[in-house]
Amino acid sequence: MSLKNISKQNIEQVKCDLCGRDNTKTLFVVSDKLLGIHFPVVKCLNCGLMYLNPRPTEKSITQYYWETYFPFKRYSRSIIDSIRKYRVKKYAKFVARICDNNKRILEIGCGNGKFLIALRKSSKSALFGVEPSQTAVSQIKEESGINVFPGVVKEAHFPDNYFDMVIMFQVIEHLPNPRSTLEEVHRILKRYGYVICSTPNVDSTEFNFFGKYWYGLDIPRHLYFYSEKTLNRLLYQSGFVIKKVYPEPNPISLYESVRIFLKEQNLQLFYRLVSLLKIPLLTMIMVINCWILLLGKSTRMCIVARKRG
Ligand SMILES: [Zn+2]
Repeated sequence: MSLKNISKQNIEQVKCDLCGRDNTKTLFVVSDKLLGIHFPVVKCLNCGLMYLNPRPTEKSITQYYWETYFPFKRYSRSIIDSIRKYRVKKYAKFVARICDNNKRILEIGCGNGKFLIALRKSSKSALFGVEPSQTAVSQIKEESGINVFPGVVKEAHFPDNYFDMVIMFQVIEHLPNPRSTLEEVHRILKRYGYVICSTPNVDSTEFNFFGKYWYGLDIPRHLYFYSEKTLNRLLYQSGFVIKKVYPEPNPISLYESVRIFLKEQNLQLFYRLVSLLKIPLLTMIMVINCWILLLGKSTRMCIVARKRG
C-alpha cells in the first residue's frame, strides 16, 4: 500500500528535529511489517539526522503497535526472551552501580515494567515509570505496585529538579518530538542528575551491511535513527553533558536482520532454515557480536549524560 492511499489526516511532514531545517535526501523506502504501508527514510543534508518523513501522526501511530509488541508482553520460554531477560538484569545492575540507594529514578516508556521490577532487586531507590500503553500500565501495577503514570512524561507534571536519574531504554527513537521530551527531562532532573539513553545505532556495522533490511529500523514505530554524533548533539543542545558512550551488542538484532533480508528477497528455503537453526545461530552470533563490540560499531549504543550545572 502506498502513502497516497492513507488518509492525509493520518500522515504528517516534519522538519529536522535536530537542526530545524527541511533539506533532506531520501535514503530508501521501507515497508511496515504490520499493514504493509511504505515509508521513506530521509537524511538531513544539514546535520545528518536520519528520520521518517512523511510519517504517521501522533494520534494514528497506535495502529502500528500490536498487542504483543515485545515491550508489552510477558516473557515466554523462548531463547530470544531468555536473552532479553538476561540483558534487563544486566541493565539493572549497571544502573544500580551508577545511582546510589535512596534516590528517585524514573523510567520513561517502561512497557510492562520488566526493567523496573529487575531494578527493584538491585536498588533501594524510589522507582517511577511513565508509559502510554494502558494495557502495559495495568500489568505493571497489578504485578509490582510500582508507581506508573499512564501517558507521556509531559502530562505527568512532575515537579522541577525532582529526579536523580531518568532512563530511556529504546525509547527516544519512538518519540514524535525527542528534543521537546529531553527538555522536559532536563526540567525534572536535579542538577547534575543522570539521563541514560539507549537506541539503535546507524553508525553500526550491521546497518552499513543490511541497510533497509536492518532490524533496528522497525518502521514506522521508530521515527528517528541516531548515530553517536547526532544523539550526542541533541543531548548537548538539550542541556546535558555526555559522560560516556557504551557500545551495546544485541544478538537478536543480527539474527532478525538476516531473517528480514531473506524474507524480503523471497529466499523462503533459507528463511525457514535460519528459523529452524535459531539456537545454534544465536550462539554463533553472540561470538561475532563480541568482535563487533571491540570495534565499537555495535548495533545499539547507550549514552550516559548529566544535566549541566
Ligand atoms: Zn538537521
